[in-house]
Order: sequence, then structure tokens, then C-alpha cells
Amino acid sequence: MVSFYPGPSRVYTKVPLYLKDAYAQGIMSINHRSEEFVAISKKTVTLLKDKLNIPKSYSIYFVSSATECWEIIAQSVIEKEGVHIYNGAFGEKWFQYTKKLKPTVKSFIFDREEELIPDKLMFNTPEVICFTQNETANGTQVKNEIIQSVRKNNPNSLLAVDATSSMGGVALNFAAADIWFASVQKCFGLPAGLGLLVCSPKALEHARSVNDRKHYNSLLFLDDMMKSWQTSYTLNVVEIYLLLRVMESVKPIDSVHKTIINRHQKWEAFFDTKSEQLNFLIKNKAVRSHTVLTIEAKPAVVEKVKTRAKQAGIILGEGYGELKSSTFRIANFPAIQRKEIALLMDFLHDFI
Ligand SMILES: *Cc1c(COP(=O)(O)O)cnc(C)c1O
Repeated sequence: MVSFYPGPSRVYTKVPLYLKDAYAQGIMSINHRSEEFVAISKKTVTLLKDKLNIPKSYSIYFVSSATECWEIIAQSVIEKEGVHIYNGAFGEKWFQYTKKLKPTVKSFIFDREEELIPDKLMFNTPEVICFTQNETANGTQVKNEIIQSVRKNNPNSLLAVDATSSMGGVALNFAAADIWFASVQKCFGLPAGLGLLVCSPKALEHARSVNDRKHYNSLLFLDDMMKSWQTSYTLNVVEIYLLLRVMESVKPIDSVHKTIINRHQKWEAFFDTKSEQLNFLIKNKAVRSHTVLTIEAKPAVVEKVKTRAKQAGIILGEGYGELKSSTFRIANFPAIQRKEIALLMDFLHDFI
């Protein structure tokens, strides 16, 4: 079986080997306060910064998931004011979570075919502007340049970016925002169970003024612990080790990015020029995600494609939320191999 589900997705082929190494080296039993763990934690953070081009001054925290990051931002960074800019189900979910904790936050909803115009996004100094960089539910993305311009237009705000299904797959301009987060079961090619939260010095400075210290995962508490490369609870040490091994083995992000774009272009040629029954949900190429493809078809066709795919050993992503019956999704994540994409294209040929 090869999984094209956009998370949890295909893991790197070497993950079982890394796991075996973790067992052989006693990593499954090491203490999360031990020197051994501190060395793993430090090395993983260094590799992440190096391979993904994250500014040296930014901090990285290990958490359990992207959902936890939604909560951390709501409790530790947003005091009252925030605006959530979104066009799909994950962005909306984030907004709803924040609203439960901070009822005064606002939303700015845009059409999934629409490219955001930064000059229309000037806010009256909300503390935090929240973007879903890659909307996994409908296969759209907000480009680096747009995030950069929104930052310029709102110099007093912090920018927080959900990059759960793009970090590790495409090059992100980390310097253009203050908070970024992702979980590892998407572009990092690992099993679920670990989230990464990336913060700028400006984000931490603001967190200090909010001064939330009520939760085990309050940002300031995470930061205190991370000063000695540790966490506030007993975390999944093995998964950090797996992440370390994956980050050691992957190419720098600019190179991974090129591969992903190249593969995306092949998928565009496949669906846009060859197919009548199967089409990109998103017609505007400028806003299409490079890592998550959402393909639209008649519900009966969607059903048939998914069922037949399974029989052929291929798992396709279900449509998400309201798009469940009219679409299926294909992950374009780095761990997927070229020959597997060829296999899927070959399979889909019968339906185009
Ligand atoms: C998958 C996903 C999430 C949720 O990730 P978890 O690891 O389940 O918390 C959040 N946002 C986006 C955009 C996602 O794709």
C-alpha cells in the first residue's frame, strides 16, 4: 500500500531502520532530562534551522500537534485582539478554537479562488494576524510574498502561520512571520505524534507582556524549558530521534522545493490538459497548493476512483468536510517516490 493521503501520509522508507537504531541505541528508554536527550534535542533544532532556512534567532519548540499550537497561540500570545484570515476548513477550525479561549478575535474569510490583496489587509493593530499558509482541506496556498507584504502593512502585529501541510515540503520565508507551526505526519514523512512550533524573538517578547503561565504548555514555560533543550513533560523522545535522522538525510529545503514544484507541474499537465472527468478543484493556478492536490469529479466517479485505487494498493485522500463527496486529495509530499507517482498517474489514466 502506498498512501497519498495528505496526512498521515507515506513515511520515509528508512523510518523502520531508524526505529531499529533507536531501539539498539537505547533511545526508547532514555530519560527526557538526560544528557543523551539534550544532545538529540539540540542537534534536531540545529538541523531544522539549517535545512529549512529558519533564522538563527528564532526558537523551536517540540509539542504534540498543530492543534496544540492553535491552543498555545490562543492562550499565550493573543491577549484580546486577533484576526484569522482563511478560506477553508482548517483555517476555520483554528478560528473556532481561538474564539473559545479569546471570544473577541475576528475572522476575515476569502474565496478559495481568490488571491489575497495585501493592501486590503490593513488592520487596526490586532495583536496577531493568523494565516493558514497551506489549506489542506481545499488545496490552496498563500504565497510567501503575500505574507511578507501583510507584514509590511501591519508593522505592529505579529503574524502566525499554520504551515502544517507545507513545512518541510516547500521553502517558506520564516523571517516574514513570527510564529510558524506544523506537525510531522505531513511533509516530514514521519508517523503522527509530534508538532513543531517556531517563534521569533518578537513573538516571545509579546508573550512576555501577555505573561500567561497557567498551562503546562504556556509558551513562556516551553521557552524556559527549551533554554536547556528540554520540555515540560515526558515527550516522545523516539519521534524526535526519527526527526533528527530524517533531517540529516533530506536535502536543503531549496532543493526539496524544486522537486515538489517540478512534480506539481507534472500533475498540472496531467489533469489540466489530459483529463475531462478529473479536474483541479481550484481553477486559479496562482493559489493552488504545491503540496496538496484537490481533484474534483462527479461523486460517483470520486467513489469509483477511491475504491479501485484501494484495490490497486493506492490510498487516496478523502475529500475534506463539505468537499467529501465531490473531491479526493493527493499529497505531493517529499517522502513519496517518483515511481509511486508514476504508478498513480498510470492508474488514474483509466479515469481521465
Ligand atoms: C493536519 C492539519 C492540522 C492538524 O494537525 P494535527 O497534527 O492533527 O494537530 C492543522 N492545520 C492544517 C492546515 C493541517 O493540514
